[in-house]
This record gives sequence, C-alpha cells and structure tokens, in this order.
Amino acid sequence: MSRVLVTGGAGFIGSHLCERLIADGHEVICLDNFLTGRKANLESIARHPRFELVRHDVVEPLLLEVDEIYNLACPASPRHYQANSVKTVKTNVLGALHVLGAAKRLKARVLQASTSEVYGDPQVHPQPEDYWGHVNPIGTRACYDEGKRVAETLFYDYLRQHKLQIRVARIFNTYGPRMLENDGRVVSNFVVQALRGEPITIYGDGSQTRSFCFVDDLVEGLVRLMNSNCTEPVNLGNPAEYTIADLAHKIVAMTSSKSRIDKLPLPADDPRRRRPDISRAKTVIGWQPTIALEQGLGKTIAYFREAMK
Ligand code: NAD
Ligand code: UDP
Repeated sequence: MSRVLVTGGAGFIGSHLCERLIADGHEVICLDNFLTGRKANLESIARHPRFELVRHDVVEPLLLEVDEIYNLACPASPRHYQANSVKTVKTNVLGALHVLGAAKRLKARVLQASTSEVYGDPQVHPQPEDYWGHVNPIGTRACYDEGKRVAETLFYDYLRQHKLQIRVARIFNTYGPRMLENDGRVVSNFVVQALRGEPITIYGDGSQTRSFCFVDDLVEGLVRLMNSNCTEPVNLGNPAEYTIADLAHKIVAMTSSKSRIDKLPLPADDPRRRRPDISRAKTVIGWQPTIALEQGLGKTIAYFREAMK
C-alpha cells in the first residue's frame, strides 16, 4: 500500500483515478480547488477510511507526506482553460514546480498528466512521442499548450538535475461519465445537445479529426505508467480516428435524437488532425485501449441520461 496524492482528483479523469487507487488498496489524498471538479464525482469513496479530500490550489506550495503523486490539476476543456488564461499558465507552471518540489523533498514518484496538445496542430501524423510539435505560442490555446510544455520541461529538468522518479503521460482526447454538462468538449457537448433535442454544434466543416479514448482505458494506462520504470513521455490514447462530423452522426443515431446539425465557426488554432502513435505504450507498459467508441459512447450517453433527469 502506498499513500498517493491526486491533484485535480475531483475532476473527470481524477475522480475515476481516485476510485481505482482506492480499489487497488492505496491510501488516497485528493487535492482540488473545485474549479471544474465536484465533490459529487467522489461520492462512491467520500467516506472511505483510506480516502481524504483537501481543498487546495496548486499555485500554492504543497505540504503533504506521500509516496506517489499524480498531477492532474488543470482545467482540460478549451472553454474552461481560456476563461482565465493567466490562471491556466500559473496552474500548469507553478503547479508543476510545487508537485516537483514536494516529490523531491519526499523522494516520491511523480506523474504528469500532459497532453496531445504539446503536438499543437501537428504536421506529423499519427503523432509519436519524438515529434516536437507545432504550437502557436501566442494564440488562445497557448496558455494550456505552452503551460503543459513548460511543465514537461520542468519534469525533465528535475529528472536530470535531481534524479527524480518522473513519469509523463501525453493524454489524447478522453471522454466518459462525469464530464460536466457545460464542459464544452465535443463528446459531452454533442451528447447533451442530442439528448435535449438542441442543434448539434459542429465547429468548422466537421472534417477535423480526433481519436477518443474511454476513461477506464486511460486510467489503466496511467496506473501502468506510474508502476513502470519508464521516464520517457508516453502517449495514452485510442488510435481509432474519427472526423467530428462522423462523431456527430454517431451520437445522433445512438440517442435517436431529432437534433439538427448546425455549423459554427472553427475556433482559432483548432488542430486539423490528431491520432496517437501508441507503439511505446504497447511496448513499455503493455497497454492499449480495449473499449471501442460505440461501447464507450453507450456508457457516456447512459450517464448523461441519468444526470440530466
Ligand atoms: P477536469 O477539468 O475535469 O479536471 C481538472 C481538475 O483539476 C478539476 O477537478 C479542477 O477543479 C482541478 N483544478 C483546476 N485548476 C486547479 C488548481 N489551480 N488547483 C487545484 N485543482 C485545480 O479535466 P480532466 O479531463 O479530468 O483532465 C485532467 C487532467 O488530464 C488535466 O491536467 C488535463 O490537462 C489532462 N488531460 C485531459 C485530457 C482529456 O481529454 N480529458 C486530455 C489531455 C490531458
Ligand atoms: N468541437 C465541435 N463542436 C463542439 C465542441 C468541439 O465541433 O461543440 C470540435 C472542436 O472544434 C475540435 C474537436 O471538436 O475540432 C474537439 O474539441 P474539444 O474541445 O473536445 O477538444 P480539443 O480541441 O482540445 O481536442
């Protein structure tokens, strides 16, 4: 049994990760400022004797005693991370400095929830970990993309300078139950719109692509990476690639919705194509996704049907 800290543990991915770590027999401290997270996400473990919830903002130093840290604190949806972009940079950069400082003091292992956004609007397809990316440093997505890139830089400087046990997961689009109704990301937007019978909002012509990973698969990948010896960045995502228009039609069909499809302007710097090369994850941590899009969408639609009652 280890004592594990999950920053951002009350959010979408973090809450599933906390549940998994409790089920694995660990003591779990969830730290969150509740910007996009909710106590309700942690209902199933809130009263568990090995679980503790702490309200804290990662822009402030951490004073906790733990063996492992998963650093997930940061709003992940463009709508939320752009709402206060300066705070997003602080969360990424100061948050990384504080978890790394704590990990150094405690000789703890520390995993960074990085992102496919470090590849920006990629000119290499699919994206392997050795691709350096194509990011606009002054655009509206930069607070998140560059924030996450600096966080990675800090993780590798702490590895070189202080021999810290770091792990870096580059997470590709992940979806599932507990996304917020107003999250703003594409899967939750389309499911909520379809269930309400409201227009499905496709940004641009819908030909841009994404690859969607169900949250249970992602959590399995995070835990395997933490338990491995791999200090290189590892892509975690589902390599099945879909256009956004395909996704809209799939969700309309699966919900038997009467929603029409509306085309809205494409946001600035929206990546055209995205698909992970997961060769490294397969080799190093023996991981690949097991849940197909239809299956994961089924669970997500069932969740929103219940949540929106
Ligand atoms: P989310 O917005 O649901 O969760 C983020 C959590 O961090 C929330 O609980 C929020 O309240 C908390 N938080 C935000 N700022 C904080 C701060 N300053 N101090 C303390 N807590 C703070 O998002 P998610 O989808 O669960 O993403 C979790 C992590 O995974 C994020 O770091 C995100 O960048 C990364 N990631 C997610 C995806 C995805 O598709 N879901 C893709 C790539 C990377
Ligand atoms: N998108 C869309 N309609 C929406 C929300 C998003 O067409 O209501 C598009 C968005 O422009 C992008 C893709 O879906 O091309 C994925 O967007 P999301 O915000 O989920 O994630 P990210 O762009 O960060 O991968």
